[in-house]
Amino acid sequence: VIEIRNLHKSYGSLEVLKGVDMVAPKGHVVSLIGSSGSGKSTLLRCANLLEDSQDGEILFEGEAVRWKGTGLARHPADKAQVIRIRTNLSMVFQQFNLWSHMTILQNVMEAPVTVLGRPRAEVEEAARRYLAKVGIGDKCDAYPAQLSGGQQQRAAIARALCMEPRALLFDEPTSALDPELEQEVVRVIKALAEEGRTMLLVTHDMRMASDVSDHVIFLHQGRIEEEGPPDRLFGAPQTDRLRQFLSATA
Ligand code: ATP
Ligand code: MG
Repeated sequence: VIEIRNLHKSYGSLEVLKGVDMVAPKGHVVSLIGSSGSGKSTLLRCANLLEDSQDGEILFEGEAVRWKGTGLARHPADKAQVIRIRTNLSMVFQQFNLWSHMTILQNVMEAPVTVLGRPRAEVEEAARRYLAKVGIGDKCDAYPAQLSGGQQQRAAIARALCMEPRALLFDEPTSALDPELEQEVVRVIKALAEEGRTMLLVTHDMRMASDVSDHVIFLHQGRIEEEGPPDRLFGAPQTDRLRQFLSATA
């Protein structure tokens, strides 16, 4: 679904991604791991076209993003293409960013109704279904402040699902949560993985990465240092850098 070729991304003179190649095939879960500052969030944001990049290609379902300009002046050339890609890649952030003045149901319904223009009744039915699926079907009329962190994050996942995206992008979805609340979100992510959803997951939780991923990518200073199936990456790391990283996070 998502393919990235030789991606380069700088913030001013700081080169954050130094030629990254990766593929998240349909139905696969790809996890990104690596130290703080290695470029994981930046890669996810570039994939979603929330950030410009300076060189390389981004393809969505085989269709390459069209650019105008080069280097620091490079931007996507086609606004409609950007919107189409972005609405097909729903992102779930570390901070759930629910709208505090809306109920949980309204939060989940908002974008499908206003961005996609889908009929309200149909969206409401889907929203209730997704909230039930993540285990908070009884919280439709509550406001975000009335929910625990784990429940809020599950609401954010329901909100992403309600866009009916082709892929889900997660940026450290459990890192703002207490350990006991973390597990309820991990369970939801595992269930989505088992359904065969295409997902790109940035996480510091090596157990989750190992449990849910088809493929794991270890980023180090903006480059892929090592990648492979989780068994091999966690069970038999090949590089010193990955060995060091894993022993530091164990
Ligand atoms: P973490 O595990 O801490 O979330 P990360 O791997 O997600 O780290 P990124 O957020 O992608 O790392 O950041 C990579 C580098 O880019 C860091 O050096 C960071 O300081 C820099 N960076 C990120 N966003 C910006 C920005 N908006 N402007 C300037 N520099 C940035
Ligand atoms: Mg990050």
